[in-house]
Amino acid sequence: MEKKNKSEKICPCGRIITNPNNKTGLCPKCQKTGINIVTILGIVGIIIKKHGSKVIKGVLTLLKT
Ligand SMILES: [Zn+2]
Repeated sequence: MEKKNKSEKICPCGRIITNPNNKTGLCPKCQKTGINIVTILGIVGIIIKKHGSKVIKGVLTLLKT
């Protein structure tokens, strides 16, 4: 079950993350600034998960009218 692609991760900025213990997926440089983005993305993800169907239905309703 441990056959995930365990090569290097790549930070959104394009840098390769060599630290295998890096759980954020961000290079040290981006970790400071990137945490904000990750936090925002996480919040957006939670909102979409919670209200996603409503939002999608709303958009579809708008498109149909
Ligand atoms: Zn980076």
